[in-house]
Amino acid sequence: MAKPIVYFASARAKFFDYDYGFLGKFEEILNRVNLGKYVDSGDYVPIKMHLGSQGAYRVVRPAFIRKLVDALKKVGGEPFVTDTVRIPGLEYLRVANSNGINELSTGVPVIMADGVFGSDCVMRPSGPILGEIGIASAIHDAPAMIVLSHCKGHIASGYGGAVKNLGMGGIAFKDRNGVHQRGKMHFLQNAELQWTSEKCTHCLQCVGSCPHGSIAFDDSQLLVIDQEKCARCGRCARVCTFEALVLPQNPELFQKALAEAAAAVLNTFKKGKVLYINFVTDVQPECDCMPIADAPLVPDIGVLVSDDIGAIEKATLDLIGQAQLIRDSKAGDKELTSAENLFLKINGKDPYLQVQAMVDHGLGSADYELVEVLCKPKPDGSTQPQNPFGH
Ligand code: SF4
Ligand code: SF4
Repeated sequence: MAKPIVYFASARAKFFDYDYGFLGKFEEILNRVNLGKYVDSGDYVPIKMHLGSQGAYRVVRPAFIRKLVDALKKVGGEPFVTDTVRIPGLEYLRVANSNGINELSTGVPVIMADGVFGSDCVMRPSGPILGEIGIASAIHDAPAMIVLSHCKGHIASGYGGAVKNLGMGGIAFKDRNGVHQRGKMHFLQNAELQWTSEKCTHCLQCVGSCPHGSIAFDDSQLLVIDQEKCARCGRCARVCTFEALVLPQNPELFQKALAEAAAAVLNTFKKGKVLYINFVTDVQPECDCMPIADAPLVPDIGVLVSDDIGAIEKATLDLIGQAQLIRDSKAGDKELTSAENLFLKINGKDPYLQVQAMVDHGLGSADYELVEVLCKPKPDGSTQPQNPFGH
């Protein structure tokens, strides 16, 4: 059986010629994949992204989103940029705006897929781990989708790419009864935050990092968690550098639950109606949901495009694994000597489990054929750069 194709364009530019640059090559990949295969004229098409956070600015750049939007419009699609509520909906839209993602830059509306209150969802069966899960309505009801992911680390899943973008990001914050939906996978361990008062310096980093205002200190300087509001995302524990606050985790179960949720989202689409785009740039150790963007672990690699989620995630992880490490980064802090399975070394969780889980769900392949696109041909079909001696 033929291996799924993963198109790849390097972030490097070899000539002073737009068609050989990153944007030009991205345009050419969008030509080659034939978006009309995925999108019918008149289709509403969510471009599912992560829009960043206050302080986390290393998101996919608007210039690339605009190229994608223009290409989708060319085949008659009606795209919009979307994500689900992680912080209050209107605040998240302001964050997107401050990261340069808005209607002016992208040419299309930017909306919350689960509504501004994060409760607009449709319950769907998920699988043995999660049972059923609330899928954000604007994704559930869409006939086609582009999963546009910025590839980086993640506290809970080790790595955040397309599977995480769907499995967490395609799920509504809560259902109409106030039950956590995205949080379901965080609650799996059934373990609560553990605080050790003797280690705590009362630096308040944990309080400032909570997106739901669930954590505080009382008048006696004792830590109080509002269990109703807490989504067990682990962000507060992640920023505690004194090991005073810990959230016990079961990474393997989490990866499987993530894949199960991603599969539930994908099963709302007809086969062949979802395309994945992975930007392997600004590959930082943390997710774009943290209050910071750390320095990248490896140099910018490029962009990958495929309609197979297993293949694109495997190819992304393999390319990151072959990259040179940047010394002045967390990779240097940890004195790593190779980038092989980088996120296992950085975050202690093996992201290849996500790939295998998608394969087990029958929704992806661990094999792929990488097809590198070197340039966008000139209108006459030629590929001669205007300035071949640019470098
Ligand atoms: S981040 Fe850690 S040390 Fe700082 S206040 Fe919170 S629990 Fe205490
Ligand atoms: S785990 Fe921590 S950061 Fe996350 S919601 Fe609960 S208290 Fe807030």
